[in-house]
Amino acid sequence: MTQRIFDGHNDVLLRLWRRDRTGERFFGENSEGHVDLVRARRGGMVGGIFATFVLDEARPKGAPREGSVEAPPVGLSQERALAVTLSQLAIAMRIERASAGAVRLCRSTRDVEAAAEAGAFAMMLHMEGAEAIGADLDELEVLYAAGVRSLGLVWSRPTIFGTGVPFRFPSTPDLGDGLTERGLALVKSCNALGVMVDVSHLNAKGFWDVARVSDAPIVATHSNAHVLSPGSRNLTDAQMDAIRDSEGVAGLNFATFFLREDGRRDANTPIDVMRRHLDHMLEKLGPRGVALGSDFDGALVPSAIGDAAGLPRLIAAMQASGYSADLVDAIAYRNWLDVLARTEAIGRRGTGAAARH
Ligand code: ZN
Repeated sequence: MTQRIFDGHNDVLLRLWRRDRTGERFFGENSEGHVDLVRARRGGMVGGIFATFVLDEARPKGAPREGSVEAPPVGLSQERALAVTLSQLAIAMRIERASAGAVRLCRSTRDVEAAAEAGAFAMMLHMEGAEAIGADLDELEVLYAAGVRSLGLVWSRPTIFGTGVPFRFPSTPDLGDGLTERGLALVKSCNALGVMVDVSHLNAKGFWDVARVSDAPIVATHSNAHVLSPGSRNLTDAQMDAIRDSEGVAGLNFATFFLREDGRRDANTPIDVMRRHLDHMLEKLGPRGVALGSDFDGALVPSAIGDAAGLPRLIAAMQASGYSADLVDAIAYRNWLDVLARTEAIGRRGTGAAARH
């Protein structure tokens, strides 16, 4: 039987926003990109966390995103960020409506489980960077109502909430200041709503601020082991210790820039390099702390995987190195659902507390 996979990070909505805002392209098999419904099903991918992402205003359209060190970030107005975010969320909603039940926007772990049981594809919504949210956080409430359940406080650029980690290799992630007062308030608001806080693009000081103030598990949806690929975007062992202490999760990023010890963007990167990251992450985070965060449609991935249809080759590599069936299922599926459930539980507590005042 094909192993079911729930993936922690992809940029499908960005690709569709650039190419086809009706979302129709998602249903047929595409020769471009990494994920559509046909290839996802073939690979055992039953759902995932779908990001909205707003490009820098001056960034060239075709430029690679993750690991792009060519152009320094130029920032982004809230007005533009909100408009593009809503446009990308609208694509997800059109896909759900056009799918006649085959795709479901999921607002809770219960929704994901129900979708998986019904054989429907589960889409959970994430925002990669909070530029669409203003200082008073009003937009967070509305975006939550629209289904957003996971939020990257920053992408790799400075915002009113904190400083995203710039792409550098080799480099420590300790680049720039920590979260602002507004950033700390955003973390607390996410906790109260049960929205997952994603530290993947945060710098080190921001990471430790989240570790200090967040009531929820620390989650890095798509980051690898710094000790094996020493770039600014990967997690140091000390950061992984903190994630483990919080009962959090890190998702293996398939981007070769974050996998390789030389930090190169090179599709000719063996699956064994991915397995070595998984081994190290398991050692640091434990069997309940490791998941997948492919970065499909946002990065160059090993040609040995290719696209969502190639996911069984990663599963086979795990099995070949002796991971038990239970461990493979935890990494591929269960760990995301469990950490989302733990985050939802914090939110139920937070909402209750707020209602009493
Ligand atoms: Zn990213």
